[in-house]
Amino acid sequence: MNVKEASNLPPKAPAGAVLQRVKVLFPLPLFKPYDYLAPDGVSPAPGTFVRAPFGPREIIGVVWPGAPDEAPPEKLKTIADLIDAPPLGGDLIDFIDWTAGYTMFPLGSVLRMVIRSGDFAAPPRMQTGYRLSGVMPPRMTPQRQAVVGAAGGAPKSASELAEIAGVSDAVVRGLAGAGGLSKVDIDPDPPFAEPDLSRIGCVLSEDQADGVAEIVEHINRGAHKTILIDGVTGSGKTEVYLEAVAAALHKDPTAQIAILIPEIALTVAFLSRVEERFATAPAPWHSELTAAARRRTWRRVADGQARIVVGARSALFLPYPKLRLIIVDEEHDGAYKQEDGVIYHARDLAVVRGARSGFPVILASATPSLETVVNVDEGRYDAIGLPSRFAGAALPDISLIDMRADPAETGRWLSPPLVAAVSENLAAGEQSLLFLNRRGYAPLTLCRRCGHKMTAPNSDTMLVEHRFENRLVCHHTGFSMPKPAACPACNAVDALAPCGPGVERVAEEARARWPEAAISVLSSDTAPGPRAIREVIDAMRDGAIDILIATQIAAKGHHFPGLTLVGVVDADLGLAGGDLRAAERTYQLLSQVTGRAGRAEKPGRALLQTYQSEAAVLKALVSGDRDAFLAAEAEGRRALSFPPYGRLAAIILRSRDEAALDCAATALRAAAPNGDGIDVLGPARAPIYRLRGEARMRLLVKARRDVNLQAYLQDWLRRVKTPSSVRRIVDINPYSFL
Ligand code: ADP
Repeated sequence: MNVKEASNLPPKAPAGAVLQRVKVLFPLPLFKPYDYLAPDGVSPAPGTFVRAPFGPREIIGVVWPGAPDEAPPEKLKTIADLIDAPPLGGDLIDFIDWTAGYTMFPLGSVLRMVIRSGDFAAPPRMQTGYRLSGVMPPRMTPQRQAVVGAAGGAPKSASELAEIAGVSDAVVRGLAGAGGLSKVDIDPDPPFAEPDLSRIGCVLSEDQADGVAEIVEHINRGAHKTILIDGVTGSGKTEVYLEAVAAALHKDPTAQIAILIPEIALTVAFLSRVEERFATAPAPWHSELTAAARRRTWRRVADGQARIVVGARSALFLPYPKLRLIIVDEEHDGAYKQEDGVIYHARDLAVVRGARSGFPVILASATPSLETVVNVDEGRYDAIGLPSRFAGAALPDISLIDMRADPAETGRWLSPPLVAAVSENLAAGEQSLLFLNRRGYAPLTLCRRCGHKMTAPNSDTMLVEHRFENRLVCHHTGFSMPKPAACPACNAVDALAPCGPGVERVAEEARARWPEAAISVLSSDTAPGPRAIREVIDAMRDGAIDILIATQIAAKGHHFPGLTLVGVVDADLGLAGGDLRAAERTYQLLSQVTGRAGRAEKPGRALLQTYQSEAAVLKALVSGDRDAFLAAEAEGRRALSFPPYGRLAAIILRSRDEAALDCAATALRAAAPNGDGIDVLGPARAPIYRLRGEARMRLLVKARRDVNLQAYLQDWLRRVKTPSSVRRIVDINPYSFL
């Protein structure tokens, strides 16, 4: 039990005082905190972790600000005990409140993102460590002597000492029993080393130095500003914001800084880059960490000790007591949008966090989102431009291959010009990347006899052939099955045919064409987990791979000095569908992937295979005229009042009962109040209507920018009761239209 001991208790109320009422919020899907009586004589401040009865159990919650209700005291339960953990700060509580209001998710669900499991808030058990007592027992054996030799410096556990000394644990304990070692407690979550601020970063270019100066000015002023570092890939954005980190720590060595990055696979390389700059590794935060490593980061952030945190989007919700700077790298990346649980966009919330707590937020990107560009144009954000690559490396030369004029042979996917370019590159001893954002062997498996398409059970999703494992896999539900010998609809044997290419199929073609070349495939199937991905990335960086065939995993952030050719197998892939950001996303992804070429001395080029050579987005990529493309995109969105020129929300209804779903959607639509500047669209079926047995429908609400969309939605949703068989979720500013 981790009850606060007397020394940590808040001041006692005077004897005979009435028991204090406080509000307690639990990390459960609850829209509000509940009233409790404080334990006898104490008045815990907002932010204090407590354990209190809730239903049949006692659970960990947090004392929340707010006026208590009117309920008579005999109806209230009493807090069981206070937890010895650093309290949540007022600005974090404010941020949780704001986030719940904005996203329309329960307050307790947002709190849950901060405190994760209650285990984090409770201190772990101390481990027993040993160090030299300074007294040698009379009987010293050679084994004991070896332990003495190992026991210098910081205290170590019995097993660590035994391992270093090459003896059994019993020898260590024996020596301790004889008085040669003394026992000490060691915290299983050791503090992170402080960054070395005496280190000097690299000599900055003039553009970089100007940018740093501007950011430092905001940091020193200690006020909020969102600053976009807008620079092509390899222009030195990272160096610029690392100087901003140094400046924030110089100003206040106890400040905390969060650096958000979109891709876990990038963290290892990124952590070592930060370590190089500050001579200490930052605190990591992402889903692949072990439970112990997560607890260490959480606790060391909570007690203010971890200075620099590098993590995925959820690092925004760590309990920093002294957050002073947030950096969102690759701010345009879709990975910042969380779609499960509380739906939020980490970039947008990072800006809110900075604005409410009064510190700068830095966004970095080579292809900033339209939202951010409009915020810069309208003067809300500052921008720092880094127009050229560092040290004069040239941007790749991009051209299109019109597949209507230069088709691939039947059953093949690489056109003659792309094949020739790869062959040339191979002959020159240079590396090539073939990019296709599609996992597996073939995206569709079709019966040649009856036309049956293989789909996942109870879902409208296609099964993707993974030939390597000889299975059919659904990328949406995770369902998989061995590839059947016969069509399940007409029983025709050997009639199931793969249609279209995935990376595995392109690799098959590449191996047939260039049998001598070192060819690797990189996708989340072929390299499950960050370590496996890292191995391929390192091999590519070190020149051990001639041709890498990869999905978007290879597109982000990596530095491949010997890569000079990028071939995009299907540049049209992201353009289909009704997603309002389809063209923008295609532009971002393709400039990132083509930006991998020619990052060092040798110039690079990129070839894009397309059936839509007239598409504006592809033309913009070729001409490198990003601003003209964004201006045209902006006009399109303005004309339709789509974000960022208007607000958008989706109400998603899901049910296993299709009739109930239809009724609920119709009833909800009928109850929509008329609102000035508000359009309600739908209900419409989701493009993938059935997923894991659940049918899904959606209403879209479009509002003028000055409309309080949340208030409108709240008023509307309050009027309609949805049956319990139908789940209703609000997605403010939706990104995913599946
Ligand atoms: P970006 O983040 O814009 O892609 P990086 O900051 O990663 O660019 O810089 C690209 C490469 O150039 C990196 O290897 C980086 O270390 C190097 N670089 C950038 N700025 C400087 C500088 N001022 N001095 C030395 N090397 C630099």
